[in-house]
Amino acid sequence: MDKIFIDKLQVFGRHGVMSEENTLGQMFYISAEIELSLKNAGLTDDLENTVNYSECCHLIKDICQKNTFKLIETLSEKIADVLLKQSQLIKRVCVRIDKPSAPIGLPLESVGVQIIREWKTAYIALGSNMGDKQKYLDNAVKAIDADENCRVGRVSEFIVTAPVSDIPQDDYLNGCIAVETLYSPTELLDMLNALEKAADRVRTVKWGPRTLDLDIIFYGDEVIQTERLTVPHPLMHERAFVLEPLKHIAPYKKHPVFGTTVAQMYAAL
Ligand code: ATP
Ligand code: MG
Ligand code: MG
Repeated sequence: MDKIFIDKLQVFGRHGVMSEENTLGQMFYISAEIELSLKNAGLTDDLENTVNYSECCHLIKDICQKNTFKLIETLSEKIADVLLKQSQLIKRVCVRIDKPSAPIGLPLESVGVQIIREWKTAYIALGSNMGDKQKYLDNAVKAIDADENCRVGRVSEFIVTAPVSDIPQDDYLNGCIAVETLYSPTELLDMLNALEKAADRVRTVKWGPRTLDLDIIFYGDEVIQTERLTVPHPLMHERAFVLEPLKHIAPYKKHPVFGTTVAQMYAAL
């Protein structure tokens, strides 16, 4: 990927664990690599089609000067976050902070941290079979898009499906969306769980009726198995109510374990 780089921007700051670092301060050298496509800017010679590196440098300087953190980990996290939200064009950033005068008492050139953060693409399945189903799904899409760490991309049609569970219940309205997110998988699940809760979701019986169900189907190409989270969703390939709307928005997305596309999984049902 193309990148804009800022190499060792020198900013005076007061970050550190030792109290004299917070009072006296020291120089920090901050570097950043901002990944985006520069082709359009190169062809049009128009600043609108790229990211203004001067603005980025001033943003970095302000974050470094206007805060006092104990850790350069925190400083780098803040810088990465602000840069990633600076323009829709930016996909990924690498931030490096050198602290050449760190109070270590040994001869060294520099110590520091380097982090890489990026917008990830997740696919989320939505379902509702109580109350105003359309409204529950529409509101969920709006709320996800309103979150500063998420950007909703493609939204499938919502389809009416018969319940798969043995428990008698109303038909479902189901859909899928693509979301660009800065959240980790568990942070994303926390956010989705909070939206389900805000929609008065009550869990009494497994696979019972619900106002709103928000499941993570894919998170990039990651394969995750923890107590709280299984990604890709373990039953997605068996569910027409997931695959049909998902096929509308991502027919060629491949399952990272099976290697088959959404369209192929749907055809195999
Ligand atoms: P199913 O997972 O079969 O669709 P469900 O959506 O009705 O069932 P919930 O009651 O919404 O189940 O969620 C139960 C638990 O599933 C959640 O507390 C969550 O921790 C866990 N979970 C595991 N993997 C996922 C995932 N990929 N997306 C959402 N929740 C998940
Ligand atoms: Mg579910
Ligand atoms: Mg669920």
